[in-house]
Amino acid sequence: MLDPSETCNTAIDAKNSKVVLQKSLKSSIGCSGIGLHSGKKVTMSLNPSHTNTGIVFRRTDVNIENQIIPARWDCVVDARLATTIGNDAGVCVSTIEHLMAAFAGCGIDNAIVNLDGPEVPIMDGSAAPFIFLMECAGIIEQSEPRRAIKLEKSIKVTDGNKYILACPDQAFSVDFEIDFEETPVAKQKLSMRLINGTFKTEISRARTFGFVHEVDALREAGLALGGSLDNAVVISGDKILNGDGLRYDDEFVRHKILDCVGDLYLSGSPIIGQINALRPGHALNNKFLHSLFQDESAWSYVRMDSALVPGAAHSWDQELSLATA
Ligand SMILES: [Zn+2]
Repeated sequence: MLDPSETCNTAIDAKNSKVVLQKSLKSSIGCSGIGLHSGKKVTMSLNPSHTNTGIVFRRTDVNIENQIIPARWDCVVDARLATTIGNDAGVCVSTIEHLMAAFAGCGIDNAIVNLDGPEVPIMDGSAAPFIFLMECAGIIEQSEPRRAIKLEKSIKVTDGNKYILACPDQAFSVDFEIDFEETPVAKQKLSMRLINGTFKTEISRARTFGFVHEVDALREAGLALGGSLDNAVVISGDKILNGDGLRYDDEFVRHKILDCVGDLYLSGSPIIGQINALRPGHALNNKFLHSLFQDESAWSYVRMDSALVPGAAHSWDQELSLATA
């Protein structure tokens, strides 16, 4: 493997590498569904956008001057159960993480997401339906090179018994562990290198999950109103209530990786480094990005090239390198 530090900021060996270009959608595509927490129907369209614009959400149901919400880490206004971003006018979009994970997994840098309500539709609770939409719309290369965020030193953020420890690495990799008392979830641990086209098969289909004993409290708080067996894995005691069971034996930790991939894409670029996490969640994912961007010596922008992540045109796509139960 080539050392990224030798290839990122210097002349690229034309024989062994090629500059990775930014990507957008080839055409617009739409869908409708319900919001997991609001329970309300929402119509969404994914649309092409110019280079260097990033992912931008647009609330078509509010005044035109207040519609735009950039998908950026510093626009996160709530990260307790889902990731919500908002603008200065107080207009918000919630539960963006699975859609953001799909953009990351497809290597899409620039897109406009139109929504006529305050929450991204939950679809089946995973990122797979969004990847399907993006692939149907078509994914095109644009004229500008893609940039990545390369970790230059380790950063740790904690919240009680949870932590994220990010370390420099030659590609994007994760080492995640979750620990729930409930039997079907219990402890799950998974390490992967996310570099080579397997995001779709290994992570994207993992669904969000919830516990029956928490549902009443959530609904009293006006949350999870759209949650059902159609869009979440539901756990009751030591049983999984979904008739078809799980999509992966360790679907829960894979979903936590999916959430993190989506939340970290609010950095605006793929990250080159290893993310180690114990009991991660949306708030901790965002806290990590705040810590990262506060410390300019912790990271640098580098030009993506195919030598940086061997064999990978889509840098956030994944290669399963090591999995443990
Ligand atoms: Zn999720």
